[in-house]
Amino acid sequence: MNIVLLGAPGAGKGTQAEKLVEAYDIAHISTGDILRASVKAGTPLGMEAKGYMDAGELVPDSVVIGLVKERLNEEDTEKGFILDGFPRTATQAVALTSELDELGRNIDYAVAVIVDPEIIVERLSSRRICKACGYIGNKGDASCPVCGGVMYQRDDDNPATVRNRLDVYVKSTAPLIDYYRGADLLVEINGDQSPDAVFEEIQAVIGKR
Ligand code: ADP
Ligand code: ZN
Repeated sequence: MNIVLLGAPGAGKGTQAEKLVEAYDIAHISTGDILRASVKAGTPLGMEAKGYMDAGELVPDSVVIGLVKERLNEEDTEKGFILDGFPRTATQAVALTSELDELGRNIDYAVAVIVDPEIIVERLSSRRICKACGYIGNKGDASCPVCGGVMYQRDDDNPATVRNRLDVYVKSTAPLIDYYRGADLLVEINGDQSPDAVFEEIQAVIGKR
């Protein structure tokens, strides 16, 4: 099963990606996670990406496309994958289609998690993440409910950057919903419900395993 997850920042893509990875035993490819790891490691790529990320802008297509191509050529993605945070521009979407063509693979579903933008600023500004296990919680969690680890706030989860990320989403990424509708791959899911309910809705469409 090869899935592309679409949705605004804060729509809950990361949370759903983890559930899908577990249920379908497929690889999780999150460009945000890959980029954050590069920033943390201080690699040249990370140093280039950091400025864009902190401003809520997109990292240049050439950089991200290169990362995803490399990742898709790793063996663990052959059992299936979920792309979380990619593609985010039309150029990325076209590059993905042609890379998959070359690999003799294809996308089964483009799952778009739809959430009212009004809710998103509040959601992201109160989001907190576990340093140890990556659990996604909120500011009410004094420590990680899963592993007891320390919770932190992402550098780009402040209200000003969140607004810019939303603008970038509307301008560059939202049009991909039409792109995948045109390719007859689109599944639209109501993201304005509990994570488990969102997951149920996704499974109802793509089939349980
Ligand atoms: P969110 O979906 O909550 O905005 P991500 O973790 O997916 O968070 O992305 C964080 C940041 O990483 C983005 O704001 C952007 O700067 C960069 N990024 C991630 N994926 C891409 C991509 N496909 N193209 C360009 N930039 C990206
Ligand atoms: Zn944890």
